[in-house]
Formats: sequence, C-alpha cells, structure tokens
Amino acid sequence: MNILDIIEKKRDKKILSKEEIDYFINGYMKGEVADYQAASLLMAIFLNGMNEEETTNLTKAMAKSGDILDLSALGKVIVDKHSTGGVGDKVSLILLPLVASLGVPVAKMSGRGLGFTGGTADKLESIPGYKTDINIKTFINNVKDINISMISQTMNLAPVDKKLYALRDAISCVESIPLIASSIMSKKIASGASKIVLDVTVGSGAFMKNIEDAEKLSEEMIKIGKLANRETICILTNMDEPLGYAVGNNLEVIEAIEFLKGNMIEDVKEVVLEIGAYMIKLAGLGENIEENKNKLIQNIENGNAYNKFLELVKNQNGDISYLENTEKFKKAKYIQPVLTKKSGFISRMNAEKIGKVVGFLGAGRIKKEDKIEDDVGIILNKKVGEKVEEDDVLAYIHANSKEKLNIAKEEFLKIIEVSENSPEKIKTILKIIQ
Ligand code: URA
Repeated sequence: MNILDIIEKKRDKKILSKEEIDYFINGYMKGEVADYQAASLLMAIFLNGMNEEETTNLTKAMAKSGDILDLSALGKVIVDKHSTGGVGDKVSLILLPLVASLGVPVAKMSGRGLGFTGGTADKLESIPGYKTDINIKTFINNVKDINISMISQTMNLAPVDKKLYALRDAISCVESIPLIASSIMSKKIASGASKIVLDVTVGSGAFMKNIEDAEKLSEEMIKIGKLANRETICILTNMDEPLGYAVGNNLEVIEAIEFLKGNMIEDVKEVVLEIGAYMIKLAGLGENIEENKNKLIQNIENGNAYNKFLELVKNQNGDISYLENTEKFKKAKYIQPVLTKKSGFISRMNAEKIGKVVGFLGAGRIKKEDKIEDDVGIILNKKVGEKVEEDDVLAYIHANSKEKLNIAKEEFLKIIEVSENSPEKIKTILKIIQ
C-alpha cells in the first residue's frame, strides 16, 4: 500500500477501505505521509465525499491516533458540548461555567479558529495568563475540584485532528461533512465524555449553509456517536448573522463576561439555554427542558455562573482582575464607527464575510503557524431586522493598522444590506435531532 494509490483512488471517486484510511492516518502521524500529500487527499475527500462507512473508519482512526481519556475517576456522567463553528460564537465561554455551576461536570477540550470562524481556545488565551495547555492530571484534578476545566487540544487526544484541522484551514478545505463529522466525533470519543450535545450551526456564518446539509451532518454524527456508545443530540442553530454583537477574540470574551454578569443578549441567550437544558438532561440532573432553562437563568441572575467562570479562570492561571474590570483588556489602536449611507431595515449581513473581515484584521490565521491578534474585530451596533437612518452607526471596527481599518470599513459596508421593508425574523433554534 502507498499513499499515492490512496490519493489516486479518492481522486477517482472510489471508496477507501479501513486499511487504507488507517494507513493514511498512521502515516501522517508518523511523518511518513507529507503535508502536501495529506493536503491533496483532504481536497479529494472534500470534492468527492465519503460514504458512512468511510467516515466512521476515519473517525475511529483519528480517535485512536492518541490517548483515549478515561474520565471514570470522576465517577460522574460527563456531558460534552461542541459547536461546528460560527462567527461571534461565544457560547462555550458562557454555557460551560453556567452548567458547571448547576452541577454538570465540564471537561472541555476546545478548538482554535478555523477558516472564517473563531475558536474558544484562542478566546480563552486572550485572558492574560490563562493556560490552555495543562497536563491531563491537572485537567482531571481541576474538574474534580471545581467541576470545570477548559483547555486546548494540547493533550495527546486525537492529535492527528490538530494537524489535519490546521492543514484544512490553510488549504480552504473545511466545509465538508465527512471531514467535520470525523474531526468533531474523533475528539469527542477521545476526550472521554459519555454523552454529547452538538451545536450544529446553519447559515452564512456556518460551514453548513443550509438546513438540509446541517441535518445530514447531524445524522452522520449521531450515527457515529451510537456506534461509539456515546449518546449524541444535535441542536441546529441559526448562524446567518453573527451571534451576539462582538466578533473577535477578547471582544467576545468581554461580551461573554457581561452576559455572565446578567446582560443577556437575546440570540446568545436562546442558544445557551437550549444547549444548557439538554446538557442538564443528559447529565441526569433534570428531565424537563423548560424547568432546566429556568434553573440556568436563575444561576445567571444569582451570580453563580459568573463566580464559576472566575473560579475557572483563576484555576488556570488567568488574571481575574480582567473579568472584574473588563476595561483592562488590551484595546486595538484604532476604534472607528462605520456609518450607514442608507435608511431602511437591515435585511442581511453575511456572517462568513464578517468573519473574513475580522480574520483579515488579524483575529484569524492564514498559515497554521500565524500568531493572532487578541484585540481586533468588529462590534456590531445593529442586527438584522433593525431600522436604521442615514449616518447611524452600524458597527465599530477595532484595528491595529490604519490601512486594515480603512479596508475593513469599506468591506463591512458592502456586506450590510439595507432594504425598505423589514425582513422576516429567522428563528434562532432551528431544530433538535436526537
Ligand atoms: N469544529 C471541529 O472541531 N472540526 C471541524 O472540522 C469543524 C468544526
């Protein structure tokens, strides 16, 4: 067997055997398959797809590329949460301390920014001092001690995903059902959770642009979950415009902190409550979804969720004075408004394009080794459906270079569509598949 034959087979739309998939994954891990060979196989998979059996075999091979975490020492049902990615998606930052404050143990391994989407690990690292790369023993002890730990993909869990993820990001090869399903489910299987709630985002700011593809991806992940004995629920959420107002690493952290302090933005709140209610249910801590939502709101209002976030940040070496006073966060050199030239209603704002502008400002990576800037991004001042008059502020651009600021302002104006009539309201929670 050799990698060229495997690439050729997928290039010619043939089905790969389990042995061929194992050969690719093991070879790539050992460095025997080069980056450019892996890149061309990924592109062939992206273009020609994989059937269910191939995707399952790919997931298993990826999960086995490193350790499989044993969380049985915690003696509790571990429910994990993962999002397929979005723009302005700060849900994990809010939701996980919130459910942890209600007794759901959280042992979370988060990803980095991918394509036009941000990553929770990058966002957490924008809190000065916060360590996402702690060892496994500390990770488990943290969950034992305070019921929550949030880290990056630094442990030896599905390590091949880390390599493939960065490579896919650098070769525009992200939006593929088999590649996303295997990436997410391999990490979930390796990270030891027994139950999984997946936020499958849909719309312009998601990898799945329409509900049919999101359903297909969900069904694939649920099937893989079943085979691996991990009960999986998918919640399809709207990502046709950015979630909340802030897009950019520390800007989103600040919005999340404000939410935990009680300033709940409506669309973020709907997503947090829906996913949180199912996490509580799967953890065996409450059967009734509506009652669970009430418990979640209560723990925001009584400060327990915010206190849990403080505890988490402190436990992972982060400087909590930034949470207590968000003015301390590093600010971009230039913060300037973008004004609308038209009056009417905001009818559309393509979230992917907004994500790309934020990436261009420095919040994302073009090459996998690129450093990101924590303080750049966009704060929306208006959302879809809102009325605007000429010269109203649509958003504030946070940039560290004058040239980038001007380009971003121009691009942003092109992205925002203003129409005479108020657009139809899109639901935030689109569907639950279990
Ligand atoms: N999130 C992941 O973990 N992997 C993907 O491929 C996409 C989103």
